Amino acid sequence: MSQLVCSTCRATYPLNDVRWKCDCGGALDIEFAPLFDRKQLKSRKPTMWRYREALPLDSDANIVSLGEGFTPLVEMDFDGRTVLIKQDQLFPTGSYKDRGAALLISKVKELGVQRVVEDSSGNAGCAVAAYCARAGVACEIFVPEDTAAAKLAQITAYGATLKKVPGSREDTARAALRAAAGRYYASHSWNPFFFHGTKTFAFEVCEQLGWKSPGTVIVPVGNGTLLLGCAIGFRELLGAGVIDRMPKLVGVQSANCAPLHRAFKDGADAVPHIEKKPTIAEGIAIAEPARGMQVVEAVRRSGGEFVIVDDAEIEAALKDTCGKGFYIEPTSAATIAGVKKHVAGSNDGDTVLSVFTGHGLKAAEKVVKLLG
Ligand SMILES: *Cc1c(COP(=O)(O)O)cnc(C)c1O
Ligand SMILES: [Zn+2]
Repeated sequence: MSQLVCSTCRATYPLNDVRWKCDCGGALDIEFAPLFDRKQLKSRKPTMWRYREALPLDSDANIVSLGEGFTPLVEMDFDGRTVLIKQDQLFPTGSYKDRGAALLISKVKELGVQRVVEDSSGNAGCAVAAYCARAGVACEIFVPEDTAAAKLAQITAYGATLKKVPGSREDTARAALRAAAGRYYASHSWNPFFFHGTKTFAFEVCEQLGWKSPGTVIVPVGNGTLLLGCAIGFRELLGAGVIDRMPKLVGVQSANCAPLHRAFKDGADAVPHIEKKPTIAEGIAIAEPARGMQVVEAVRRSGGEFVIVDDAEIEAALKDTCGKGFYIEPTSAATIAGVKKHVAGSNDGDTVLSVFTGHGLKAAEKVVKLLG
């Protein structure tokens, strides 16, 4: 039976409860038995909805889609080592967050919720606003005051109400949490349906590799929405006997804001308080990630690791990647800097896979400043 289960106290709730956290305050996960019918897939459209029986949504009538998913894999060379890169910057709103927003807002529609709130440093806000526009759901997006102009324009263009919050990214999260008290919190860091959207990254990767798992998957970690999506997705494929091993999950953090790297290194059982410094990878600068220890546990369990990269390395990776024809945003370049570092230190001959998470057009002013 499908249900919501608390990651802290193990309390359970019906899957269709209109709630986004446990009464104890803990984050909820979804207990769910996905089905994979590989034969049927051949005749389906190349979108993330081809894995329909593995997505926790009751009725097809509630699917809110902009045609997202099944992004291309390309090969890139890093110091003689070939790495596969999934081009998730090519999603409808320009970042992989559409994976999570597509399923989450479909569920919002299914639950009959008419207003949602979300907070974001930009891209999650764009994704939630776009899918709400498609679904006809009202939405309020809380963003830090210094969010890139292009992202603010995109959020308002979709018709969302924008709330600019002075102070830090954490102040924005707190303001949204207060507003969420009386409304549905369509949060990419709290809401479990978001993660069952991002898990389609793992499904697509395995299908594109002929239903094999890569050896290592390198993804960015702020809140860890893609990393936890990978953990869920690969585990579901493993559980269903579709693949025969879990990949190592490697999380990349900015050296200026790396609480989970620290927790991992120290073998800690709680996320430490850190002094956060500004970074050009502002999309992953999350000092208090809602599911921090879940992310650390997922990395530990997979036999992976955390890598940190400084701003000079991120800038070099941005220059290098754009110079090869791929226009990505600085936050997205942090992951590529992490890839360079990881492959320099390991050569086990296994398939290494990573991702472009966000399109350069979203951060044109910043790219001009860095590379112009
Ligand atoms: C959201 C985002 C990330 C990091 O995602 P988290 O869920 O915070 O780990 C990385 N890159 C881009 C472009 C993003 O929009
Ligand atoms: Zn609980």
